[in-house]
Amino acid sequence: MKITKIECHVLLDPEYDPAATSSAQDDLVVEVHTDEGIVGIGETDLNPWIARECIEAPGTHTMDQGLGSMLIGENPLEIEKLWWKAYQATAMTGRRGALINALGAIDMALWDIAGKAADKPVWQLLGEKSRDHLGAYASLQPEVGSFDAYITSMVKWAHSAKEMGFRAAKLETTFSGPYANMGIREDDKKMTEVIRAVRNAVGPDFTLMVDVQYAFDSVDRAIKTINTWQEFDLFFVETPLWVDDLEGLSKLVAATPIKIASGEWLSTRYEFSDLIKYGNVGVVQPDIGRVGGLSEAHNVCNMAKANNKIVVPHLWKTGISVAAAAHLATVTPHMPFFEFLPPALCESRLRKELVVDEVTMVDGKVTIPQRSGLGIELNRDALEMFKDAARKIRA
Ligand SMILES: [Mg+2]
Repeated sequence: MKITKIECHVLLDPEYDPAATSSAQDDLVVEVHTDEGIVGIGETDLNPWIARECIEAPGTHTMDQGLGSMLIGENPLEIEKLWWKAYQATAMTGRRGALINALGAIDMALWDIAGKAADKPVWQLLGEKSRDHLGAYASLQPEVGSFDAYITSMVKWAHSAKEMGFRAAKLETTFSGPYANMGIREDDKKMTEVIRAVRNAVGPDFTLMVDVQYAFDSVDRAIKTINTWQEFDLFFVETPLWVDDLEGLSKLVAATPIKIASGEWLSTRYEFSDLIKYGNVGVVQPDIGRVGGLSEAHNVCNMAKANNKIVVPHLWKTGISVAAAAHLATVTPHMPFFEFLPPALCESRLRKELVVDEVTMVDGKVTIPQRSGLGIELNRDALEMFKDAARKIRA
């Protein structure tokens, strides 16, 4: 089999809000075509116009090629060989960041092709089934313009998540720092108010995580606030300190009994190696697209296992990434949950409409994927509508 074309779709939710802290408003979807008619689908989570350039840009020498052209004519089933070839042949622009993120979409699509070619779900090619059901948590971030509306919506959504069957939810409580959602700015006590209100609403028998999205500007401030949350029985606190502050993370981990999670923006096993070694966090959070695809996410899962860390992948995209996460979770026993942006409890039309068939949750448990490949289909009408919306910004 040979790769004949890599098609990039830049997508935008026509109702996007530039003030929102939600990357589920846009998307880069790739379709990798082959000479045998099998087409693989993948996506990744970064500025989709930049991601497209990483794939479509020409290259003029052997150290800095474009991702797309170098893979044409290659056998898509040689995934590891192609990942390494792409990593080395783009090294001057790549090695980390956008180019690896874009490679992640292609890698995801190659796994989809491999599964379809073998007529097996992707997880069967990744490893052995480690459980009968998967754990997913509802990720909640209402997009409203005031704190009062936020706390009201959050309590309502957490309640709805529980009624839908979720046994776990993550609360975004970002009222300071560079990513204060919808411009709501409040002091750290307001974070506590949200957590307390939700914990009171859902009761003790429900797992809660908190994501503050880099809100704390010092280790001392993070320690002071997070240690007041011990009474809420949190499963973890996500990204309390700036992504590169590994020394700060390590100090925080030593100063609080609550597990600290980080890693959503990291790319390649090498950045996760540093996070584990120097940041010492208990929970590592590769985003499957951004880290470099299913191949590299699987490598990070293996690294986490060897270091007694748990993995809870970041995921704030569409049903494509949800499917990829479900396949990875099936073979990863130390992944108690993966992030599941519930279509009914989010604002993103991409999450709601882009993918026709996807992983379903019944009675709080996500079923093991059974269809071949990633088991997803694109809604072509929705795809065209999202492409049109993106073209209005940039063709
Ligand atoms: Mg986060």
